[in-house]
Amino acid sequence: MVGAVGTTRKTPALRFSAWRTPPSLTDVDVPDPVGDEVLVRVEAAGICHSDLHVLDAAEGVLPYRLPFTLGHETAGHVRALGDTATGVAIGDRVAVYGPWGCGECRSCAAGRDNYCDRRADLGFSGAGLGRDGGMAGHLLVPHARHLVPIGDLDATQAAPLTDAGLTSYHAVAGVARKLGPDSTVVVVGVGGLGHVAIQILRAVTEAEVVAVDVREDALALAERSGAHRTLPGAESLPGRSADAVFDFVGSDATLRLAAGVLRPGGDLALVGSAGGKLTIGKPGPLPAGGSVSLPFWGSRPELAEVIGLARAGVLRVETEIFALSEAAEALERLRAGKIIGRAVLRPG
Ligand SMILES: [Zn+2]
Ligand SMILES: [Zn+2]
Repeated sequence: MVGAVGTTRKTPALRFSAWRTPPSLTDVDVPDPVGDEVLVRVEAAGICHSDLHVLDAAEGVLPYRLPFTLGHETAGHVRALGDTATGVAIGDRVAVYGPWGCGECRSCAAGRDNYCDRRADLGFSGAGLGRDGGMAGHLLVPHARHLVPIGDLDATQAAPLTDAGLTSYHAVAGVARKLGPDSTVVVVGVGGLGHVAIQILRAVTEAEVVAVDVREDALALAERSGAHRTLPGAESLPGRSADAVFDFVGSDATLRLAAGVLRPGGDLALVGSAGGKLTIGKPGPLPAGGSVSLPFWGSRPELAEVIGLARAGVLRVETEIFALSEAAEALERLRAGKIIGRAVLRPG
């Protein structure tokens, strides 16, 4: 190991130890990086709706072994290196690419760990999702390839960009080339991801962007993020008028809404993991020529592009900042729909 971890050998971590049981803030040992591992001192960790899906899951639904530390949106600085770790130096400020894969398959070799061929065998989806994550004082990252430099970007911005930013960017990238100035795009759910997706759609397409949410505050956020129109429900959207729909909720209700407004030949990107189901069939709820994609997170090169957009001032995540010790309160506010934008924890 290279680099001093400091005098304190304990670090707080938000541990998830039993299914359907709230996580608890516990002091754990500061990990020592070995081999290719890199120890990151966490400056900020975002809270995602999928953290709630993990906390609420019944045993056996997710392939994760407990316990682990939550947190899949992390930014900080390099604190120590394993003896074979290269490519970063102590003190480098970094965003952590979260969807850690096997590192060897074709997808991982191309920086697309999010689509690792061996995901089913790994027993984890990445940092904070089956492996110890960033809602802690320190995060042990398996390899320096998962670190993207952020320069002087505020960590409370960089952290949510690693999922809220990256996942939105990846979802938009999948359909953007089909969108022109006469296209209409509907964003369903203006939370941590949705409000960033609106900014990305405005930045990389000429399409009209319509935002749908049931919360008034979220629609105000959509307007601030650049949406051309905001709607409290889909009732006022004419049927089959959307060239693309991004469903950032993924419930039965939002999928029904999405399928109902999609034009023939349109694209439905299901991003949210609320567990809703949509039947595919001919005939069925989807229009002729409709495509459905299931984008998951994004690639490491895409994360570098997202960080670049933020550093250029094109993207701005609206955040509500909490201390790590306030994680339970932040999670409950998120569950109650009271977080506008992204909740971000600071370990202090
Ligand atoms: Zn997430
Ligand atoms: Zn892989």
